[in-house]
This record gives sequence, C-alpha cells and structure tokens, in this order.
Amino acid sequence: MAEETAVKDELVVSLEYTLRVEGEVIDATDASQGEAIQFIQGGKTIIPGLERELYGMTIGESKQVTVSPGDAYGEVDPGAFITLGKSDIPDTIPLEAGTELELRDQSGERLLGRIAEITGDQVRLDFNHPLAGKTLEFEVKVVALRPATPEELAHGHVHGPGGH
Ligand code: ZN
Repeated sequence: MAEETAVKDELVVSLEYTLRVEGEVIDATDASQGEAIQFIQGGKTIIPGLERELYGMTIGESKQVTVSPGDAYGEVDPGAFITLGKSDIPDTIPLEAGTELELRDQSGERLLGRIAEITGDQVRLDFNHPLAGKTLEFEVKVVALRPATPEELAHGHVHGPGGH
C-alpha cells in the first residue's frame, strides 16, 4: 500500500494540539508523552472548522487554525438563558457568577448550566455550551497518518491496537 503523506478523507490522523481561548490554554495533548488524538478525517467527529483546515497537511507539519464560533460550538443563544429567583436555587449552590449547576427540564433531561449574573434577587443562568460564542485558536501538528480499516470506516471511529 502506498505511504500516505497528506491528510485526506478516510485516513486516520494522529494530531497533537493546543487549544487557546482568549490567549489562555484550555486543552492540549501532552506531546512530551507522545500523546495525540486520533480520528478519521472526513468523519465529522472533530470541530468542522478545524477538520476543514487539515486537508493536505503533511506528516510533521504544524499549523495555527482560528475557528470562529459558527464553525465550533456555535454562537451564544439568547434563548439558553433563564432567570430564577434566588430562593429557587438550592442552598447548597454558592450564589456567585461562574458556579456550575445542573437542572432537569420537564422531560427529565439533565441540563448543565452556570450562573451568569446575580442582580438583586434574581439569578440569571446560562445553559449555552461554555465555549459558545468563543473563537478557538488551535495549534496543531500532524504526527501520523494511515488508512482507516474498512471496519473503522463502518464504525466511524478509530480502533486501538487491540481492537476496541
Ligand atoms: Zn468500532
């Protein structure tokens, strides 16, 4: 089989990355430990705005990729805020901006949110993804490429050396 040297669909990509938001590192692989994420290119398992920029990258190549909110976790949805009275919040939850809390909607679905703001007796809760509205700054390096196996393509994910 021909050696795969550039990123294209149906290849398993091993990628080192650092993710910064507003200049702060919020996630990174540990390159000193040989750590990398693996995914099938074109499988839409990573953020679309990042996947798109990887096409054609070669093994060993590094790149800075800026992903706007629309291509990442979406814009902030004004409909994802709710306001409750302080007395509606359980005593165990500290009433300060940034505190995370979990509510259940009418169908029993768990919603993870956080306190956005406290004004007088009112508490404004934000149920947007924490990275909604944020521009993501990735620094990526392709460390390996190989063709995905037919089984991996059928499953839509990468298999480890020992199978699943
Ligand atoms: Zn599988």
